[in-house]
Parts: sequence; structure tokens; C-alpha cells
Amino acid sequence: MRSVNPATGELLETFETLSEAQVEEKIACAAEAFREWRTVPVDRRTAWLERAAAILDRERDAFAAMMTTEMGKPLGAAREEAAKCARGCRFYAANAARFLADIEVKTAARRSWVRHEPLGVVLAVMPWNFPFWQVFRFAAPALAAGNVGLLKHASNVPRCALAIEDIFRRAGFPQGVFQTLLIGSREVQRVIDDPRVAAATLTGSEGAGASVAAAAGRQIKKTVLELGGSDPFIVMPSADLDLAAATAVRARAVNNGQSCIAAKRFIVHRDVADAFERRFVEGMKSLRVGDPMNESTEIGPLATAELVETLDAQVRRSVEAGARLLCGGRRLSDRPGFYYAPTVLADPPAGAPVRHEETFGPVAALFRARDIDEAIALANETAFGLGSSVWTADDAERDRFIAEIEAGLVFVNAMVASDPPLPFGGVKRSGYGRELGEWGIREFLNTKTVWIG
Ligand code: NAP
Repeated sequence: MRSVNPATGELLETFETLSEAQVEEKIACAAEAFREWRTVPVDRRTAWLERAAAILDRERDAFAAMMTTEMGKPLGAAREEAAKCARGCRFYAANAARFLADIEVKTAARRSWVRHEPLGVVLAVMPWNFPFWQVFRFAAPALAAGNVGLLKHASNVPRCALAIEDIFRRAGFPQGVFQTLLIGSREVQRVIDDPRVAAATLTGSEGAGASVAAAAGRQIKKTVLELGGSDPFIVMPSADLDLAAATAVRARAVNNGQSCIAAKRFIVHRDVADAFERRFVEGMKSLRVGDPMNESTEIGPLATAELVETLDAQVRRSVEAGARLLCGGRRLSDRPGFYYAPTVLADPPAGAPVRHEETFGPVAALFRARDIDEAIALANETAFGLGSSVWTADDAERDRFIAEIEAGLVFVNAMVASDPPLPFGGVKRSGYGRELGEWGIREFLNTKTVWIG
């Protein structure tokens, strides 16, 4: 397993992957830890989460530098990510006892109630794009609920994977409650097949999700899937155009363009399309692209050389299909590392990759809609259904967007973001199940009905 700095292409470190026997040892350790951990009172479990949060805050700068050198996100964003992980831990520390409390239900029984029990060992297969946050948003509720975690992180972020295991160890979590498995994706099925593993969650691409869900399905094991997205960003004539255009640039550029909930398709009412296009293209062109360790950088490199290849092919095929290139459209080969120029493509016709596929990098597709019906039809056109952002000052339009957009999240006059108290997840090929809030902690629980006759 290799850790490569995407800003330079330099190999930072290599890691041995685990042998079959080592994986077996870790699963055994997790299963053993679960027997004890499930009986620990919630307030003691959450006290350890508080300590993990304190470590994240105290060592924020070091974790941020680790994320940036391993996957290229701007340093300021990496610092915010570490802080958000601490917030996520504290959210569940403060609320888990309430979410897990018994619920009395009035029935014909002398007494009946619902109790919540952990499922056991949960395998988390995670992506590199938010290398800390994706893991903590799974782990904080799962561990608070009494489950234990096995992390199979993306192969390009082994330093982050080991650092997170170390945070839980130093916070005082008992041995085996959270472990990192340095394994490749081919080893995942064997872990899922193991009878000591109860469930799996995957954040990543559709292909990886389908493969993990199929393996878990064969073993009748619960899964949660957080997959890709091609979020629409709709602008209507009544919107604050300056704010919408400035936010559109931020929403496309977030995490160097590599976020599942980055806005990817900008659908603008024709009455304001020219004015929006001018502002948006200007904003995309003026993004500062460069070394992600530099505090003023807004767009760093893509995480791997393969991502640049894939993105460039999507852009080229879209231009060939008839999309108009308004800016960018090329890799930045005047420097080492994996950089791509912020790009805007207008009016991509049916069949153009930027219209139907997820683009994982700073590439925006711009559409004109004649009216709200066409805007909603375009928004719902892809196979994805993760987030959506709609800009309007008209209440009737707002209500139609909320009701008719096929997505797990609708943000009105704001950029899509995850927030610990609110559920996060998608529909259609963006996956199923929810993370965060009360909904996230319920995913890996046995909702047990108790009836006293
Ligand atoms: P990816 O290639 O699917 O990898 C994600 C994880 O799955 C990695 O740990 C990877 O391991 C593993 N994996 C890949 N193929 C697998 C297989 N066949 N069986 C089992 N495990 C497999 O995705 P990525 O490129 O890292 O991440 C980008 C994708 O994640 C985008 O589509 C993005 O939209 C999505 N995403 C979704 C959310 C959400 O919340 N909905 C959040 C962030 C990202 P290796 O690295 O070893 O291959």
C-alpha cells in the first residue's frame, strides 16, 4: 500500500498489507471486544468519544497536514475536517443515551417496549476524499451504540487509516473496539463472509457499493451504502444572483471538486442564464490553483493520477458530443502533481458524460431551463439522488423543489453540507440508509420488541 503526495507525485511511504492470518487475528479480537463492549454503559462509552474529540482538537494541525499530504485537500479545509470530526464525536457523546433509550409503546400487553441493542462487529469500507470525516461519522454513532468497528480505508490513505485507529486507542477505547485493516478491496468479501462480522457500511463508488452489498446479501447481512452523486444546483430568476453564483463556485470547488455532494450540474432559468454564466465562469477562472499546503490555495491537486485521466476523458468526450467549453478543459502539466484546471462546460447534450456521470474534480456542467418544470426534469435526469441546492425567493417554487426533486437532501438558498444532527444519505443509485443524527445511530441496531404478558 502506497502513500503518495498528489501535489508532487512523490512516494511518501509504503505499507505492508495484512496477511490472511493477521486479518483473522483482528476479527477474533473485534469479536472478543464486542462481548464486553456491548455491556459497557452508554455514558462510559461516550466519555471515550469526548476524549477522542479532545485529541482531534489538540492535534488538529498535525492531522490536517497528514490529510493534505496524503490526498491533496487544501490545508484549511483539512483543519476544518478534523474539527468537524470532534464535533461529530461530541454530538453523539451528548445525545447517544437519548437515542438509545427504551421506548414504551401502549398495547394490549401488561407492558411493551422497544429496546435498542448493538449488532456486533461492523465493517466500514471508506473512501479517501474526506479521509477523517467519513470514518468518524460512521464510528462515533456505531461505537456509542455498543458496536465495534473494523475499518478498511481506501488504499491511498494508509497514514490517515492508522492515525484514526491510534486516536481511538489513545482516547482509551478498549482493545479491539476500533481497528484498522490494511487490506485491498479484494480481501473485503472474505471479511464480510466471516460469521463474526455482523454488518457492513460502504462509502464510495457505485461499483464498490454493488459489490459489497452483493457479498453482504449472500450472507443476509445489513448494509448502508453512501455512493456517488451528481447534485443539481438550480437558480431561478428571483434568486440573489450574486450570492448564488459565488456559492456555486464554492459548491463545485469544495474538496478540489471531489465531494459526493459537490454541486456538479448547474441548471439556470433562461431569464438569468447569461448573467449567471458570466459571474460563474469568472469565479471558476479566478480560483487559486496550487500547493494545498499554501494557506491561500483554493484548489489543490486531484488525489491520484488515475482521477486526472478519468476526468480529462469525461471532459474530452463531452466536448466531442457538443458541449461548449467556457474555461479550463485541460490538465495542468506545467507542474508536478495531479492538477486539473477549473472547467465549465455549457449545454452538454444527451450522451455527454458530464450530463449523466459523476465528475470527480473541478468540472461544472451548465444547463439552461425554460421554466421550473424543465429545471426539475433536468435535476431528476441522472441515476443519482444524493443532494440538491435550489435558489429562489418564491415560496411556491421552493415547495415544488422540496417535493419533486429526487434526492436525500434539499438545501434552499444554501450549499449542501452534512451536519451531525441531520440525516445524510441518498436515494436511487446514490445508495440507501442514512448516516448522522438519530437516523444514523439506528442503522446498526437490533430494534428489539419486548412484550410482558
Ligand atoms: P471507491 O473506488 O469506490 O473506493 C471506496 C472504498 O471502497 C475504498 O476503500 C476502496 O478500496 C473500496 N473498494 C473499491 N472497490 C471495491 C470492491 N469491489 N469491493 C470492496 N471494496 C471496494 O471510491 P473512491 O474513489 O475512493 O471515492 C469516490 C466515490 O465515493 C465517489 O463516487 C463519491 O461520490 C463517493 N462518495 C460518496 C459519499 C456519500 O456520502 N454518499 C461520500 C464520499 C464519497 P481501495 O482503495 O483499496 O480500492
